[in-house]
Amino acid sequence: MKSHPTMKHAVPALIDIGANLTHESFRPDFDAVLDRARAHGVSRIVVTGASAGGSRAAHALALAHPGFLHATAGVHPHHAHEYDDATDELLRELVATPEVKAVGETGLDYYRNYSPHAAQIAAFERQLAIAVDSGKPLFLHQRDAHADFIACLDGVRGRIGRAVVHCFTGERAELVDYLDRGCHIGITGWICDERRGEHLRELVRLVPADRLMIETDAPYLLPRDLHPKPSHRRNEPMYLAHVCAAVARARGEDVAVTAALTSATARAFFALDA
Ligand SMILES: [Zn+2]
Repeated sequence: MKSHPTMKHAVPALIDIGANLTHESFRPDFDAVLDRARAHGVSRIVVTGASAGGSRAAHALALAHPGFLHATAGVHPHHAHEYDDATDELLRELVATPEVKAVGETGLDYYRNYSPHAAQIAAFERQLAIAVDSGKPLFLHQRDAHADFIACLDGVRGRIGRAVVHCFTGERAELVDYLDRGCHIGITGWICDERRGEHLRELVRLVPADRLMIETDAPYLLPRDLHPKPSHRRNEPMYLAHVCAAVARARGEDVAVTAALTSATARAFFALDA
C-alpha cells in the first residue's frame, strides 16, 4: 500500500502483527475501526485466529480486505480442550491458503488454566506439527508456562521456521531463552503501563531490530497512558502508533526508525510481500 499524502505523521507505515478483529466488540463499527487504523498510519493488520471458528472468520476478513488484512489460523490454549481431529483438519486447510500467514495463536497458558495442562500441551504439539508440515511461521502465546513451553519448542527444534512470542511480558531469563532459540518478540501496549511495563522498557532494548515487532492485541490491552483517555476500554489498531512511540522511547530510537524497522521485520516474518 502506498503511503497516503494526507497522512499527518511522517512516520513510516506500521504493521499490527496481532489484532483480534473477529471479536464481537468490533461488529458494530468494523469499517470505522479499519479507517481509523489507516488514518493513524497502520498499513497492514494480521488478524489473530484463536479458535476454529475464529480462524475461519479471520481468514474471511483477510479474503475481504486483500493487501490490508492478513490472518493466522490456530487454537489458543484457552480453547485447547476443543481441539480434535476436525479442528486439526480445518487448521491445515486454512494454513494452506495464501491469506493465512502463520500458525497460531497457539502455546500454553497456565495463568488462566481454562484448559487442563495436558490438553494444552497436546493441542500445542499438534499445531507445532502443522508449522513443521506447512513451513509457515508460528504465532505463539505463553503465560506462566515457560518451562513446558520451551520443552515443546525444543521438541521441534530445527524443524520449524520463524516463530514469534507475541505479547511478551516476561522476565529477562525468558527473553534470553526465546532469543537463543531464534524467536521473534511481539510487544504490545503492556509496555505503556507505568508500573507493570517497567521491566519491559528495559528488556525491549535487548531485542535485535530484525526480531522485534509491535502489536495491539486489540480489543485487549488498551494502553493505560493515552491522553485523552478514551471513554471506552476497547483497544483498536489505531493505537499501534502509541505503542510504537513507547517502544521507540524505551529503545532510545527515533519513532520513524522503530516504525520502519518493525514493519520491515513484520513484512519479512509473515512474508507479506510474497
Ligand atoms: Zn495471546
